[in-house]
Amino acid sequence: MPTMQALVKSEAAPGLRRMEVPVPEVGINDVLIRVHKTSICGTDLHIYEWNDWARRTIPVPLVIGHEFVGRVAAVGANVHDFREGDLVSGEGHLVCGRCRNCLAGRRHLCPHTRGIGVTHPGAFAEYLCLPVTNVWYCDPSIDTDVLACFDPLGNATHTALSFDVLGEDVLITGAGPIGCMATAIVRHAGARHVVVTDPNPYRREIARRMGATLVLDPGRDSLADAQRRLGMKEGFDVGLEMSGHPAAFRDMLAQMCHGGKIALLGLLPGEVPIDWGTVIFNSLTLKGIYGREMYETWYKMTVMIQSGLDITPVITHRFPFTDFERGFDVLRSGRAGKVILEWE
Ligand code: NAD
Ligand code: ZN
Repeated sequence: MPTMQALVKSEAAPGLRRMEVPVPEVGINDVLIRVHKTSICGTDLHIYEWNDWARRTIPVPLVIGHEFVGRVAAVGANVHDFREGDLVSGEGHLVCGRCRNCLAGRRHLCPHTRGIGVTHPGAFAEYLCLPVTNVWYCDPSIDTDVLACFDPLGNATHTALSFDVLGEDVLITGAGPIGCMATAIVRHAGARHVVVTDPNPYRREIARRMGATLVLDPGRDSLADAQRRLGMKEGFDVGLEMSGHPAAFRDMLAQMCHGGKIALLGLLPGEVPIDWGTVIFNSLTLKGIYGREMYETWYKMTVMIQSGLDITPVITHRFPFTDFERGFDVLRSGRAGKVILEWE
């Protein structure tokens, strides 16, 4: 049986092991991908550190990772639309295909979603096997570092394009990689002011380079002051919550205009008290976001990059996969945006 190198959660404890594992078997509807580059997600860090969520969720042993770009190495007998050598990335959410939402083409709303690198073998390996329905043909003129980030760029795109931002004032809480990518996207989509908050100065600087009008430290700067400085009168039109921190969400609620719209991507802890009076009397719309739309989000991010969207300032580090520990260390330090691992 052929084998490959992979990063494996090999036991129910903190850490990850680089080890030799079997190359996945290719079913008739599958595509085998030779992984070229991967990027590390906050989720991978949680799995590495083995937090409560990871303990409850991850079956061990498991090859982790879900952000990748690679080339088709082999296809199953039923696959006719991909060929060996095609440059591809892929949707890491595996959906059932049979529920009402899947049948209606709303696959991102499938209630039976499984995730590669979370409950299903992942992409931090020399080879990854995906059902053909999850493979995305990449524009080869796009930088492969950027293509390796299509999964989180898709989260940013799905959230940022949830509401019309042309001419609007946008508040983004959290300048993690996704908040920073969303900053560039709402700019590209025509927002007027884009205010981004994050306590981490390294990340505020990335948000500034991604096109933020103003970056704020939530512990020090007030959003009401920021609005005055920008000459805003009635509050933010659109809010993108990308920190997962209750304080950030509460600050945002208080700074929205009447009729304002909020998209929530950050994973807030289970139950967060908020002032529901603000939501109701100010007629706010709250929308939860999970994953990416299959495949409208993938189309939109491709054409935005083709039309000049630049997310490269968010990509701060690159390591060979054999140095994965250094990649996880720098991400944990908070002095990093996206960290790429190279597999070739
Ligand atoms: P990240 O953890 O790298 O970034 C979060 C940022 O929020 C950090 O830079 C942190 O300093 C900042 N922050 C902390 N407290 C804050 C506060 N009070 N105000 C403003 N900012 C604050 O995460 P990421 O990879 O950029 O992802 C963003 C969020 O989206 C995370 O919560 C992540 O778990 C979540 N996520 C959700 C989905 C989904 O499908 N819903 C998918 C991917 C990620
Ligand atoms: Zn389904």
